[in-house]
Amino acid sequence: MFPATRWWLVPFHKINPASKKNDMRYSQTLLPTLKETPAEAEVVSHRLLLRAGFIRKLTAGIYSYLPIGLAAMRKVENIVREEMNRAGAQELLMPMVQPADMWRETGRYEKYGPELVRFRDRHDRESCLGPTHEEVITDIARKELHSYRNLPINLYQIQTKFRDEIRPRFGLMRGREFVMKDAYSFDVSDEAAGVSYMKMYEAYKKIFTRCGLSFRAVQADSGAIGGSFSHEFMVLADTGEDTIVVCKDCEYAANMEKAVVKLVEDDQAQAPAELEKIETPGKRKVDAVCDFLSIEPKQLVKTMVYKADGKPVAVLVRGDREVEEVKLKNLLGVADVELADDKEVFEATGVPTGYLGPVSIKIRTVADQEVAVMQNFYVGGNEKNYHLKNVNFERDFQVEAVADLRQITTSDPCPECGGKLDTTEGIEVGHVFKLGTGYSESMNATFQDRDGKEKYFVMGCYGIGVSRIVAAAIEQNHDENGIIFPVPLAPYTVIIVNLGVNDETINTAAETLYRDLQTAGLEVLIDDRDERPGFKFKDADLLGIPYRVTVGKSFLKNGTLEIKCRKDGTIQELTPEETVRSLQTTILAELSK
Ligand SMILES: [Zn+2]
Repeated sequence: MFPATRWWLVPFHKINPASKKNDMRYSQTLLPTLKETPAEAEVVSHRLLLRAGFIRKLTAGIYSYLPIGLAAMRKVENIVREEMNRAGAQELLMPMVQPADMWRETGRYEKYGPELVRFRDRHDRESCLGPTHEEVITDIARKELHSYRNLPINLYQIQTKFRDEIRPRFGLMRGREFVMKDAYSFDVSDEAAGVSYMKMYEAYKKIFTRCGLSFRAVQADSGAIGGSFSHEFMVLADTGEDTIVVCKDCEYAANMEKAVVKLVEDDQAQAPAELEKIETPGKRKVDAVCDFLSIEPKQLVKTMVYKADGKPVAVLVRGDREVEEVKLKNLLGVADVELADDKEVFEATGVPTGYLGPVSIKIRTVADQEVAVMQNFYVGGNEKNYHLKNVNFERDFQVEAVADLRQITTSDPCPECGGKLDTTEGIEVGHVFKLGTGYSESMNATFQDRDGKEKYFVMGCYGIGVSRIVAAAIEQNHDENGIIFPVPLAPYTVIIVNLGVNDETINTAAETLYRDLQTAGLEVLIDDRDERPGFKFKDADLLGIPYRVTVGKSFLKNGTLEIKCRKDGTIQELTPEETVRSLQTTILAELSK
């Protein structure tokens, strides 16, 4: 796109060499903001990315990054690249198209499922689009790395990946095509691989800190990629795909379903009282029983029946607690647990729902650890309209296993430091895995060790969702008016709103400021459109650019400009010289955090 004036007619002295590189004039930039929220958008980041003209949908889960969207993504890329290089990793670029045979070596061509796009080329060779690159990098290692002297080595790329998600949604949060940084480390031993892992763990902390994001590293399952140890890096936001528990006092963070509950024992020991059968006519629910007996739910133990891979298991938890099904599944070593319905409970136990209890129960039973330290509590009587009082574990019933089986709550203490816990939603933006020798064994990738023996590489892999970080940053930082970019991720750090495009004095002041800010090393967008002030301010807010400088009437009156901070809304009035100095200092300080 060319300016309206023919460039060869512009007097030479008016072309400012400093501004050539990143000249960003709103009037000449593809920056199509939308007033209305597109119907397809389900989450805030998706809505704002569309409205602010960052992305446009091509087809399901596949987006074009328009200039300002690409500029934001480049910010993430640069931080990732700098910290990866600083940690000693080397950048390369691997192909997106990969031969099926290589995926057959690891068994993943069959196992990976329909997310892997498989196709044949014109010579009928089977291929796939890389959703990840363990096979290709292991092939490079087995061909190029022969000796322990080549190790350790960490190779990474920033590249477009394709995963054929069944239900792509939330814009850049869960697309089919996305930009990812993936790194792979090769080491001589498990111990050395641990060092490489920790280096990446630390580099990731630096990356997300530099991005200006509030995040936590969470210990995690390694999922489909396989491996022995892994952490997920989660950006904290109000909307996310995972609920996580975080400590307010230390760095502890865990997925809700895996958070360890610290057992707190009642320090007042009671003498075991005599077991009593009491009538509770028609009282089946915890609340109804408690109301009827004038007791607290925490004095009662409820007996929940689950189908564990189809077979009934009773689970005991305190009346005010909830069973954590993931913990139950792990304890029982089954693939699936599901709450039994009333009919199934009756078939398995012979007791109507609501009156089931652990004393003389007919099915296998497990208990939450808390039940084992409760004293003189209430349970169902295994008979319609009856409960039991003064029940005690071991004296009155036994179980197959006692374990941490309940959901953690914010009133539980932090399992690490005893501090206060909070729950939040998390968006996974990074994942580090200790892979071990799985890939090197299946692909026979070896090196000669110091002792002359051929050994398998011990591997690690490390991913960061580059495009996803842009979305996560917006989920974490926005208000009703639009995006609020952290300074390090902002596509531009300053927007100049020229309110006098047709006024010689204001126009000259705005253009001079534009040049001066660029000369000061800042990335500036100038809104030089002939539009109403309100219209321009709305767009500036929507785009989320951290600092807005308005050149308008106050410049004519007293030579000042208005500087507004997008994040906290504070306004300053400064002269053009003070503006340049102040913004340069503030922004450089933000960037070097
Ligand atoms: Zn803690």
